[in-house]
Amino acid sequence: MKNIIRKINPKSKRKKKRSIIKPINWAQARALALNKPPGIKHLEVTTKIGCSNRCNYCPQETLVREYKKRNNEIYMPIDTFKKCLNKVDNAVKVGFTGMCEPFLNDNCMEMIEIAAQKGHPVYISTTLKGLKTEWINRLEQIKFAPFLVHLPGDTENNIVKEEDYSEKLSAIIKSNISHKKYHFHGTCLHPAAKIAADLAHETKLNSRASNLKSIKTAKNKGPVVCKRSFAHPVLLPNGDLILCCMDYSLDAIIGNLISESVEEIYKCDKFIDLMNATMNDEGSICHQCDAYGNKVKNINIQLKIEK
Ligand code: SF4
Ligand code: SF4
Repeated sequence: MKNIIRKINPKSKRKKKRSIIKPINWAQARALALNKPPGIKHLEVTTKIGCSNRCNYCPQETLVREYKKRNNEIYMPIDTFKKCLNKVDNAVKVGFTGMCEPFLNDNCMEMIEIAAQKGHPVYISTTLKGLKTEWINRLEQIKFAPFLVHLPGDTENNIVKEEDYSEKLSAIIKSNISHKKYHFHGTCLHPAAKIAADLAHETKLNSRASNLKSIKTAKNKGPVVCKRSFAHPVLLPNGDLILCCMDYSLDAIIGNLISESVEEIYKCDKFIDLMNATMNDEGSICHQCDAYGNKVKNINIQLKIEK
């Protein structure tokens, strides 16, 4: 038995190399996944299912419907967070963003401190809803990378529903919280956020890999890979791990971090099936991903196949 390492280099002038870009079978996908399992580089934490901000570009209804078919655990308990965090290396970046405003779970402040104390680089994306102003002192003690404030666009009234929204935003701007950044979607800011007008920049929306029907999705052909190397999963409140933040339909639950190790999850049949689909099934979530799906011909990959 001998291992053959094949390199695909799109810049190569030797045309015959292109013939390697062809469908691979399940066993080859498995060999590829087992040869170099991606593991977790970034862990996004969804602290709650069901975001009351209900931004019109966010497929919340799909997520809530699919999650409730399987679970009743809406808010992530601290204990679940600790158990899952203990399964990942301290170098893993932990993001409080996921698929819901993180501070809608009252445990969020404590979770941030637990992750930071364990040595994880920590980042957050928050609309400030649920964030208590008395937590600002505690947030100033954390080295964020970054602390991203999602400001409301002019129609996003739910984000500013709390009576003290403008005062809270003002307190955040004046605070010494590290690495603050401000962004919004749409054409202009909500009047309640005008205090941040000079700080904010607009960011483009994507279709969430076709989970948002109002935005044209990618339809990539041929093998695709993830620009994030499939290493950026999302943790749900019950410990389930999904492939990434595009999977609002929960079609790509790859394991459960309470009951399994990271290694077991990335060697499971579900993950290997997904890898196989990215190579062969043009309807796969990654083929429809306009944010991070990348055609194989644009990158270098190595396939290690037993002969
Ligand atoms: S705040 Fe974020 S998670 Fe909540 S509805 Fe808006 S985009 Fe979705
Ligand atoms: S759907 Fe997009 S972000 Fe998710 S794993 Fe596929 S390419 Fe990466």
